[in-house]
Amino acid sequence: MGEDRELCEYRFDEPLNKHTSFKIGGCARIFVQPKTTQALLCALQNFQQARLLAKGTNVLPPDEGVESVVSTLGLSRYQLNGDLIESEPGVLLSTLCKAAAREGLSGLEFAYGIPGTIGGAVYMNAGAYGGEIGEIVEYVEAYNGNEVFRLDRSQMEFSYRSSVFKKTGWVILKVVLRLRRADREKIEKTMEEIMRKRISTQPLDLPSAGSVFKRPRQDFYVGKVIEQLGLKGFRIGDAQISTKHAGFIVNLGNAKASDVKQLIGVVQKRVYENYAVHLEPEVEIW
Ligand SMILES: Cc1cc2nc3c(=O)[nH]c(=O)nc-3n(C[C@H](O)[C@H](O)[C@H](O)COP(=O)(O)OP(=O)(O)OC[C@H]3O[C@@H](n4cnc5c(N)ncnc54)[C@H](O)[C@@H]3O)c2cc1C
Repeated sequence: MGEDRELCEYRFDEPLNKHTSFKIGGCARIFVQPKTTQALLCALQNFQQARLLAKGTNVLPPDEGVESVVSTLGLSRYQLNGDLIESEPGVLLSTLCKAAAREGLSGLEFAYGIPGTIGGAVYMNAGAYGGEIGEIVEYVEAYNGNEVFRLDRSQMEFSYRSSVFKKTGWVILKVVLRLRRADREKIEKTMEEIMRKRISTQPLDLPSAGSVFKRPRQDFYVGKVIEQLGLKGFRIGDAQISTKHAGFIVNLGNAKASDVKQLIGVVQKRVYENYAVHLEPEVEIW
């Protein structure tokens, strides 16, 4: 490990339920949090089988834990440069949204309230309220296990909740977003409206990982369908189909990953039997 030691924080037998919005997950035997890009590259070389974790708002780690995790949260610097925002991967979307608004830069409003990082957002092409992160990414610096290279937007294969990073496992080291000048008050008003909508429709008072399933096609509203099947409020252990938004599974206290997986299975089965549609999880099941 050598030189990077002081530029990485190491923890042993670290409970992953402290690092996921679901508050679920066994321990990581080794948990490494680098503070610089160079230290991240060293950690990735030293722990080649490690799981990469950011804010943990779209993952379900197993109850039995995992061997090693590398966290990107120590990489949390960003800067504005004209209409561009240059960001390390561990910066929270909410931080970038507020910084952009303060500068009168528009384009990120849709992401206000998505609780993850910019790295996690680019990886899965996070989107909401008509916007997607892929639309505003100018370029990314990434690492493929051998070298660091630059990818422009057209090379990132963005599609609904997917990107080239999801297909290849390349690690996002830096993200550059291109925004456009607009009226600051208007930007802030849009952000407030979006936050109000989230608060009124989503179970934000309970641990979850957001929408559990991808929308299989534009006109198929997963939450509505689950509700129509009478599954709202259905629970296995402490994992429950939210009574507020049936597209969410919430943790009522001590839910296990196995409870959530079983619940996902029940929903998939019922939806398939009734609609001949296979629901694919949006949440990453480790
Ligand atoms: C209440 C709630 C509401 C949500 N609303 C939305 C929404 O409206 N729209 C939406 O799209 N999502 C939503 N989500 C899901 C989640 O917030 C997003 O998917 C977010 O982009 C995940 O970011 P993260 O930092 O938490 O990533 P994590 O959950 O930590 O990781 C997710 C995946 O990204 C990979 N990853 C993370 N960083 C990098 C990196 N630097 N390089 C390569 N891979 C990386 C990880 O390895 C993992 O496979 C919501 C979640 C919650 C809990």
